[in-house]
Parts: sequence; C-alpha cells; structure tokens
Amino acid sequence: MDCLFCRIIAGEIPSNKVYEDESMLAFHDINPEAPVHVLVIPKTHIPSMDGVSAENSACVAKIFEKIPHIARLAGITNGYRVISNCGEDAAQSVQHLHFHILGGKKLPEHIV
Ligand code: 5GP
Ligand code: ZN
Repeated sequence: MDCLFCRIIAGEIPSNKVYEDESMLAFHDINPEAPVHVLVIPKTHIPSMDGVSAENSACVAKIFEKIPHIARLAGITNGYRVISNCGEDAAQSVQHLHFHILGGKKLPEHIV
C-alpha cells in the first residue's frame, strides 16, 4: 500500500519520534504550525476519522489515553490543542488517520 504514514511506521521514511508502542507512533510534523506540532497515528491503517468503527476504535482510545503523556514528552507544559482533519473540506492531506497535537504557544482562540 502506498501510504506515507504506513511507510513512516515501517521505517522506510525517517521521522523524528516522540513516542512509540505496539499500537501507535507519535512524531514531529515536518512542517510545524506551532512551536510544538506532533502527529499521533495508529499503526493500523485507517484512512481517516470516517474509517473509525466499533471494530477498530480501541486503537483510537489508546491514542487518546496516551496524548497527555505524548504532549509532556514533547515539552508541552501549558495546554495544547488536538485536531484531526477529515476529508476534503477539512483539507486532509495524508489519508492515514492522524491527530495533530499543537502547543508551545498561546494558540488562536478560533480556527474558523
Ligand atoms: P493533514 O493536512 O492531513 O491534517 O496533516 C498531514 C500532516 O502531515 C501535515 O501537517 C504535514 O506537514 C505532515 N507531513 C506530511 N508529510 C510528512 C512527512 O514526511 N513527515 C512528517 N513528519 N510529517 C509530514
Ligand atoms: Zn497508512
């Protein structure tokens, strides 16, 4: 499968890792939009939030359990924002479910 994030998980494309376990990988975004910008992805290929189901949602729950830890590992101390872009109107550019963790500065109050 030609999926960029699956290739990062496989180690075929290098990434600056923050955290990894059997079900997820967290790494720094190549084009950060905040002083700290980490992506968290499930190791299972799920194309987007639209692909989350009763069968695969356990890995999403695990990601949310780990996000506070990952944010701390990345150096965030004063709050953060978690975003998942899904589909065309949200400008999703990589078709493998991912959660952006943004922090390290006072973020804008509104994103729309
Ligand atoms: P989306 O726009 O789909 O919500 O987010 C995709 C994110 O992946 C973007 O913020 C983009 O900068 C990041 N990205 C794209 N290619 C790479 C890559 O090869 N390595 C890393 N670390 N991030 C990437
Ligand atoms: Zn993938």
